[in-house]
Amino acid sequence: MQFRDLKKQYKVLKKEIDEAIVTVAANGNYIMGNQVTELESELADYVGVKHCISCANGTDALTLAVMAWGFGEGDAVFVPDFTFFSSGEIVAFEGATPIFVDIEEDTFNMSADSLERAIEIVLAEGKFSPKAVITVDLFGLPADYDKISAICKKYNLQLLEDGAQGFGGKIREKLACSFGDISTTSFFPAKPLGCYGDGGAIFTNNNQLAELIKSLRIHGKGTDKYDNIRIGMNSRLDTIQAAILKVKLKAFKQYEVEDINKAAKRYTEMLDGVVKTPLVPDEFLSSWAQYSILLENKEQRNGLQAFLKENDIPSMIYYIKPMHEQGAFIDFDCCKVDLSVTKSVCNRVLSLPIHPYLTKEDQEKVVINIKKFVGVIA
Ligand SMILES: *Cc1c(COP(=O)(O)O)cnc(C)c1O
Repeated sequence: MQFRDLKKQYKVLKKEIDEAIVTVAANGNYIMGNQVTELESELADYVGVKHCISCANGTDALTLAVMAWGFGEGDAVFVPDFTFFSSGEIVAFEGATPIFVDIEEDTFNMSADSLERAIEIVLAEGKFSPKAVITVDLFGLPADYDKISAICKKYNLQLLEDGAQGFGGKIREKLACSFGDISTTSFFPAKPLGCYGDGGAIFTNNNQLAELIKSLRIHGKGTDKYDNIRIGMNSRLDTIQAAILKVKLKAFKQYEVEDINKAAKRYTEMLDGVVKTPLVPDEFLSSWAQYSILLENKEQRNGLQAFLKENDIPSMIYYIKPMHEQGAFIDFDCCKVDLSVTKSVCNRVLSLPIHPYLTKEDQEKVVINIKKFVGVIA
């Protein structure tokens, strides 16, 4: 059993993907070929946002957003304490300070109450100037935008949606990557929509920001890449990755999001009363970058992971450490609020195999072994 079976997906889509790759090789339009602009417009249509700008990876997508706003020294950006390193790294990379915010145990996403407390403390201290909130749509579930967008308005903060794991998720009819003033995603292979290497994209409805980001993505270009009017990056999506993504986006829209939701629902039904399963609030849809359960404590979690491994079932711990405990942030003044939910979740979380091609039989095997371990069945 695979944790996320990308080879199985390739087998299903092989004919179209092979054709797409060979077409790029034969045409020789390796850099910024027509497939890149076609993909950008398909992604913008799907998400329901005016502009999509592709780039080299999800980390660059976040960096380009922060560069476009011009955050730097003395600025505070609020980031969930429970996320992949990039979400906080890019803030510090641009010279600003990430302020870590606690999460909700039920959804694993940023707590609106903790966010507001952190903002109030930073304002009262007067050392940093609050500029933005980075929400993460963790494990595929959109963050609580009804509450968090209102807080951003109240305090006049920009909202940057890190949708690296959230692509395909929804609140009511509104899709992930449309909630931020700028939103970003990643096409790292194991993300909900992945390519065959690195890739990323930025989404915004703001014309000026879109123009600025297009310039920053290619060496701060003016009229062309040999006219350089600002300091930028070299962060393009390869044509070959765009061609692969065009094929995968079709499958993603047609059945993958639906099928992965069926798999998640099966886990949730089978694990009811056995372990704590992830909550998807009413009117939310997850794209299930991960299916993560919570155990009672660290010993039980580590024990279960070892037991599953003995039975050839892969599982992963996302994430084993809160952001504020990462060595890179030791010298940062980034802890203003209580982060105990994150600490507890890091000790108890375990992610199970999930992908659109996972069979019911494999899921039953996972569940039987979990039940055996926690003592529900002999
Ligand atoms: C994967 C990920 C990123 C970074 O994406 P890359 O394409 O690997 O650079 C950023 N934020 C979150 C939450 C992620 O999961």
